[in-house]
Amino acid sequence: MIARLVMVVVAAGVLVVPGFAQKSKSDTCPWCKNDPELMRAAGVVSHGPMPIGPWSSTDLPSKLPAGQWITLETTHIRFASSLPQIDVDLAEQARVRAELDRLRLVLPSVPVKVRTLDPWLRLHLIAMKSEEFYTRFQSLLGVTDADFPEVRKFEGPFMGDGKYLGEREKFEVVLHAARASHNLFTKEFTGTQVTGALRWHFQATHKMLVSIPCDDSDLKKDRWLFPHIVHNLTHLFFCAYKHFSYDPPTWLDEGLALAMEKEIEPRSATNEGEEGTYRDRVAPPDWTAQVRKMIAGGDHKKISELMYIREVGALDADALYTCWSVARYLIEEHPEKLARLLGGIKGQLDDKGYPNGSDMPGIQRKLFKEIFDWTPQGFDEQWVEWAKVQTSK
Ligand SMILES: [Zn+2]
Repeated sequence: MIARLVMVVVAAGVLVVPGFAQKSKSDTCPWCKNDPELMRAAGVVSHGPMPIGPWSSTDLPSKLPAGQWITLETTHIRFASSLPQIDVDLAEQARVRAELDRLRLVLPSVPVKVRTLDPWLRLHLIAMKSEEFYTRFQSLLGVTDADFPEVRKFEGPFMGDGKYLGEREKFEVVLHAARASHNLFTKEFTGTQVTGALRWHFQATHKMLVSIPCDDSDLKKDRWLFPHIVHNLTHLFFCAYKHFSYDPPTWLDEGLALAMEKEIEPRSATNEGEEGTYRDRVAPPDWTAQVRKMIAGGDHKKISELMYIREVGALDADALYTCWSVARYLIEEHPEKLARLLGGIKGQLDDKGYPNGSDMPGIQRKLFKEIFDWTPQGFDEQWVEWAKVQTSK
């Protein structure tokens, strides 16, 4: 079938190799101009070529039926994007201007005010904010880059197997303008069809990737896309911490992802489905008020029950509000103890020194007792007292 298709194309005299024509349109970033010094100052390691998933970024145009692919590598993350140029709505002007102001500090050619963001400027802003978020997440963990070894060290505390929070390779974020492109890309390494965003650990190379289809009407706008990226990055970063060798507790993983997403945009709420992640457009606007209402009605969940949940699909709406609020409580009231809890959960080794998270409920009980001197029930009481008097900031 493929041979026949090629014959027809040649006979018609229009031999179109997907991607190549588009690629020649513009290979050079108009903002940092692929100038090594400008790029270094802006925290850009490269605009490609670079590894992306199972391929090199140079393979993307010929393998994925999208528009132009552009790539950007920062200190900790590689991005590939086929997102188009977008108009900046009037309501978005102030937010975008503030972001451009931050980018201009390191990339002087960035304009003060724009009506449209071209694909390069969009990606530069996403990359800048993602690196800022990397720092934010490291502050939650209470770590810096200096805490992580190139490869696993057997002396000193266990910190994983590489300098990217415990993984050997940089994180990868692939942003698809079209879902068909996301489907083809993810099928290449998962072998199955996924609908929503997909997160993946490449075991042989020790790297974590997220592939995001950005063609839902809200995800076409950066106001909603970026918090969704942050939700996914939170999962990647937490899973990667001290190397991804076993799944962390679902309630904590999800609670942190929602907490980080809502720090970026309080109205955003990514809901995880069985086939990947999607954005939920019917979430209540004010989760703080929702949690107070839930507690008043006695509908909140107990941590002793959440500890046993292994799949995100098993978290109903009240469980999600509880996970988010518990994460906020720990972040705001007990940041140092939270860092110890996260480190303890991700750093379990068996007596031979292999990572082992087989008794996750037992590990959580032990850590709650050791770090906070709380039983799960005592914890619930502390959190409820805090949550029922919170008001949205
Ligand atoms: Zn650039």
